[in-house]
Amino acid sequence: RAKAQGRDRSAVFDQVMRETALHSLELEADLRRAIIHDEFVPHYQPIVDMTDGRVIGHEALLRWQHERRGLLAPDAFIALGEDSGLIEQVDWLMYAQVVRRLAQQPKGYLSVNVSPRHFSSADFAERLLDLCRTHGADPAQLRLEITEVALLDDAPRTLRSLRTLREHGVLAQLDDFGTGFSALSYLHRFPLSVLKIDRSFVSGLDSDQPESFALVRAILALANTLGIETIAEGVETEHQRRALLGLGCRRGQGYLFGRPAPQLVN
Ligand code: C2E
Ligand code: MG
Ligand code: MG
Ligand code: MG
Repeated sequence: RAKAQGRDRSAVFDQVMRETALHSLELEADLRRAIIHDEFVPHYQPIVDMTDGRVIGHEALLRWQHERRGLLAPDAFIALGEDSGLIEQVDWLMYAQVVRRLAQQPKGYLSVNVSPRHFSSADFAERLLDLCRTHGADPAQLRLEITEVALLDDAPRTLRSLRTLREHGVLAQLDDFGTGFSALSYLHRFPLSVLKIDRSFVSGLDSDQPESFALVRAILALANTLGIETIAEGVETEHQRRALLGLGCRRGQGYLFGRPAPQLVN
């Protein structure tokens, strides 16, 4: 009896596995088609000076206008894109749209997210600078958002790419700071200009927990010592905004100031 039950259970399990595999195969086929037809729609979220709400730049966030499933956020397909290697093509389509938008944008910067995979190609920096040249965009108004993972593999190549870009004015921001490996040595080995304080720390400020305050204070002190700017991510409440300003963090991004949208603010 136990054996029969086990078989039933494994049959259910097989069924689920099959559906999951089918779903991801279908999504991968869809993603290949989406690349051919460029079904990607950048959304932009404002980054503000939290003292007065002035918009200083925007982060470009990837959205996929799927013909049947509607507008998809990165969570729905980024992992698949990374595993299949398709993310690089997706990103280049994004960057082309963002750089075109940048060419029409007299002030402020646009930041783009960079998959760690890009740093395995030696011509990443040149390609991005070429894209700016082609569309007449000022590279000094473009910023990269990279995660700690990107700084792990093939460091010399990554360092070269980041240096080349920095020479042309493209600043690098470390995304989701505090969630990765916290190998703090990266902070001065790579030319990083901005540290984005992860949302998980910012949300902790709401409960007025002393540990959250201590953590944010420590991150700010670290950034300050290294001469690196900070941006708080995921600011959702007035309480968080005040707390961050009180701790000395002036720049922020989050639903309190604006949600990602197809249009730039201002
Ligand atoms: P990220 O770079 O850390 O982007 C911030 C994420 O937080 C965005 O999610 C944004 O919509 C969300 N967010 C902003 N403010 C708030 C807030 O106040 N509260 C909450 N709960 N969330 C907020 P999104 O757009 O779903 O993007 C998720 C991740 O996907 C990004 O995290 C980034 O790592 C990745 N990603 C986005 N665009 C691209 C892209 O063009 N290329 C690549 N390779 N990755 C991308
Ligand atoms: Mg980002
Ligand atoms: Mg982030
Ligand atoms: Mg994030």
